[in-house]
Amino acid sequence: MTNPETSTIPLVTDDETNVIRIENLHKSFGEHEVLRGVNAEVKSGEVVCVIGPSGSGKSTLLRCINGLETITSGNIWLGGYNLSDEKVDLNEVRKHVGMVFQHFNLFPNMTVVENITLAPIQVKKYSDDRARKEALELLRRVGLEDKADARPASLSGGQKQRVAIARALAMNPEIMLFDEATSALDPEMVGEVLGVIRSLADEGMTMVLVTHEMGFAREVADRVAFIDAGVIQEHGSPEDIFGAPKSPRLKDFLSKVL
Ligand code: ADP
Ligand code: MG
Repeated sequence: MTNPETSTIPLVTDDETNVIRIENLHKSFGEHEVLRGVNAEVKSGEVVCVIGPSGSGKSTLLRCINGLETITSGNIWLGGYNLSDEKVDLNEVRKHVGMVFQHFNLFPNMTVVENITLAPIQVKKYSDDRARKEALELLRRVGLEDKADARPASLSGGQKQRVAIARALAMNPEIMLFDEATSALDPEMVGEVLGVIRSLADEGMTMVLVTHEMGFAREVADRVAFIDAGVIQEHGSPEDIFGAPKSPRLKDFLSKVL
């Protein structure tokens, strides 16, 4: 028997710097080709923001990175694991990747702390005590230690999203993916969630953020990728992407959102 707590092999070893490597990724739903040859690399500790119009394939890209969608063709490596390799255990790889969604997806019938401890207890086989202790520590990090035994329904949107982030962090992921984590929030709650994401960036978490918060992307991203029509049309530093966009598509997009 392997010990589930120790059997997870680190995603990235010392001689690898690319945590995520995407090579000629194609993804179709039936006849509809959504991703048409995406190439990208994300280094350890890097924060990459993905921007682009609605329907351009941003969520599909994140779901492919997390192994939630099967890839039509191409390759995605997470550390040394190739997601297209049939021998790779996707459940094992997913333990390294935390994902936060627009609509929180908390379990409504569980308390905050139960939401956070579920996966550590079931997947990592933590004891209830240890899982709760770590959950309380995570709640402290997101500023919600007093909400441990509350139900999600009693929380504001910003609080729910901070619980969702704590829940994702409970698995000690090496990569965090955020899909429009602030899009469903009232404006006054956006800041508290962005603040938590910013603190993760400062701690060196490798992150891919799909966001409509252009000001935040400019501030927090190491690199920004603009996706449209299923390919990365342009990528570069925030200064380049927002200050000196080259492609007509990106210029047009920015003229609508800035
Ligand atoms: P974005 O996140 O950039 O708004 P998505 O990745 O959600 O875009 O969607 C890209 C395209 O793929 C859209 O046209 C959408 O309708 C389609 N799509 C996404 N998921 C599915 C699915 N499960 N089945 C069929 N079509 C899908
Ligand atoms: Mg989306």
